[in-house]
Amino acid sequence: MKQFYLLCNMLFAVTTLFSQNNKLITFFEKSNYLETPRYDSTISFCKQLAKVSAIIHYASFGESPEGRELPLLIADKDKLTNPELIKKTGRAILLIQACIHAGEPDGKDAGLMLFRDFIANPEISKLLNNVTVVFIPIYSVDGHERFSAYNRINQNGPKEMGWRTNANNLNLNRDYIKAEAPETKAWLTLFNKWNPDFFIDCHVTDGADYIYPLTYGLEINGNMDSKLTNWQKNTYLPYVTNAMEKANYPIFPYVSFREWHDIESGLESWVTPPLLSQGYTAIANCPGLLIETHMLKDYKTRVFATYKMLVYTLEVLNNSGKELMQLEQAANDFSSTEKFRKTPFPLSFEYSKDSVFIDFKGKEFTKEISDLSGGLWFKFGSDYKDYKLPYFNNLKPTSFAQLPEYYIVPRQYAFIEEILKSHNIKYFKINYDTTLSANTYKFKNVTLGTSSNEGHQKVQSFEMNIITLNLKLIYGSIVIPMNQEKSKIIAHLLEPKSPASLLQWGYFNSIFEQKEYGESYVLEPLAIEMLKDSSIKSSYEKEVKNNPNFPKDSYAILNWFYTHSKYKDEQQNIYPIGKVFNGKISN
Ligand SMILES: [Zn+2]
Repeated sequence: MKQFYLLCNMLFAVTTLFSQNNKLITFFEKSNYLETPRYDSTISFCKQLAKVSAIIHYASFGESPEGRELPLLIADKDKLTNPELIKKTGRAILLIQACIHAGEPDGKDAGLMLFRDFIANPEISKLLNNVTVVFIPIYSVDGHERFSAYNRINQNGPKEMGWRTNANNLNLNRDYIKAEAPETKAWLTLFNKWNPDFFIDCHVTDGADYIYPLTYGLEINGNMDSKLTNWQKNTYLPYVTNAMEKANYPIFPYVSFREWHDIESGLESWVTPPLLSQGYTAIANCPGLLIETHMLKDYKTRVFATYKMLVYTLEVLNNSGKELMQLEQAANDFSSTEKFRKTPFPLSFEYSKDSVFIDFKGKEFTKEISDLSGGLWFKFGSDYKDYKLPYFNNLKPTSFAQLPEYYIVPRQYAFIEEILKSHNIKYFKINYDTTLSANTYKFKNVTLGTSSNEGHQKVQSFEMNIITLNLKLIYGSIVIPMNQEKSKIIAHLLEPKSPASLLQWGYFNSIFEQKEYGESYVLEPLAIEMLKDSSIKSSYEKEVKNNPNFPKDSYAILNWFYTHSKYKDEQQNIYPIGKVFNGKISN
C-alpha cells in the first residue's frame, strides 16, 4: 500500500512538473520560432517563472516615460535578491540586457529560455552554482510597444518587433554618460546597486552579408585596465570562440569595413566610447560583451546563437569568475590612487596603420551601378567565400588628459549635480565664497553640428589650450575629488576631448557665443587707432593672409578689432570647469 502511495505521489510530481514546464514554453518557441512576445506577455511569463520557482525573482527597477515598469529577473541558487549578500557568497554577478534597441529582441527570447532552463534543465541550472544572473528582458519598454512588421528594414524576423528608440525618440545606447532619459537613470541606479562582474548587451547588426550568425564586441583595445583586458583576451575569448565554433555558431569580432560594405577595403576595430553601454561598463572596470547577431540570419538561428553565447559566458564565469572578481577589485582600487592620476589618461582612440591578415568568411558580391541613383551598391550572392583581409585592430590613443586632484564645478553649472548623482560619483559643495587658482581650457576654431543629434547640437571640432586662471567660486560650488573608484567616469564627463563629454554633447555651447558687439561708427575709428600698434597690425595681416574669406567680409574685419580690443569678452571660449592639481580643498 505504502509503495502504491509513493508511486502515486511520484506520478503526481512528474505530471505537475510536466504541465508546469509545458506552461513554461516561451512565446517564441510556441510561435515556431517566428515571433517575439509583446510587453504584457513578456512580463506575465517572467512572473510565471518567479511563481513556479523560488530561485527566480521578478522585480521592477524603474519606470519609463510612458509609465511602464522596467522589468528585471534575478536567478540566484540561494534565492537571494540582495547584491551585498550575494557578493558575500563569492558568486559572480552577470547582468544581461536585451531590447535597448527594441527592434532587436533576440536577447529577450534567448534570456527567457535561459531563465526557464534554470528551472527545467539541470545542466543549465548548474550554471548558477558560482554565478547569479540579473536579466533585463526589455530595457526600452516604450520603444518595444511601438510594435510593427516594418521597424527593421534590413532584418530577417521576427514577424513584428519594437522600435529603436524610447518614447522621446532618444537612442538609449548613446545616453550612458549624459544620462538624460529616465530609463538611463534607472539603469545606472541598478548598475551601481548590483556592481556586476560581467555585462552583456544583446543587439542585431546591420551591414554586409557574411557567414557568422553572431559578431561580438569586447573592450580589449586599450580603454580598460590591462589585467582585465588580458582576462578577456586570454580566458574569456578563446573559450567562447571555441565553444561557439563547436556548436556550429561561428563568431567573429564586430567590425566595420574601412569603406562602406566593401569587404576588400579591409576590416577595422574601434574602442567604444562610454556613451554606449559596453564602453561605459569598461570605464567602470566591468567587462562588457556586445552581442550583434547577423540581421540576415533567420530569427531562430539568431536567438539560439545568443542563447549559446549566454550559456558559454556562464561557463567561463563559473570557472574563472573568482579570478575576474579579484582583478576587478584591484582595478577599482587602482582607479582611486595617485599613481593612476599621475599617468596620462587616454580619452579617444583611432586605429593605426598597422594591420594583420585575418581569415573572413564572407559572401560573393558584385559592385553594381544603380540605374536609379547612379550610385554604387553591393549585391551579395548566395555563395560563401573565404577572404584573407587586412584587419586594422591596433588602436592608439589620440588624446589624453592629465587628471587633477579635484574638478571644480562653479555653482552656476549646478545642473551637473544630477548627472554626478546618477553615476554615483562622490562630491561635496563648498559652504563659503572663494577664489582658487585652477587650470582649464581655452577653445578656438570651434565648429558646431548643423543637425540635431539626440536632441543636442554637438560640438564637432575644436582646438584647445590649457590656461591657468583664478576661478571665482560661490558658496554651493561643487568639488569632485578624484581619489574615488569612479575617476574614469568623471574624466569622460568633464574632459572636453572625450567623445562622450558633456562639452561635446553641447552642454556648454553658450560659452562659444559672442554676446556683445561694436557698432561700425565706434569700430571704424578704433580699428585705425589699433593698427598703429605694430603687434596688432602684424596679427591682423596674418589673419588677412591665412583666411581668404576674411578680407571679403567687412563685418568680420570690424569684429576682429572688437575681439582684439580691451572690450572683448574675457570669458568667451573659456571652459568653466576647473582642475586643481595640488592642495587640499575642504567644504
Ligand atoms: Zn542595436
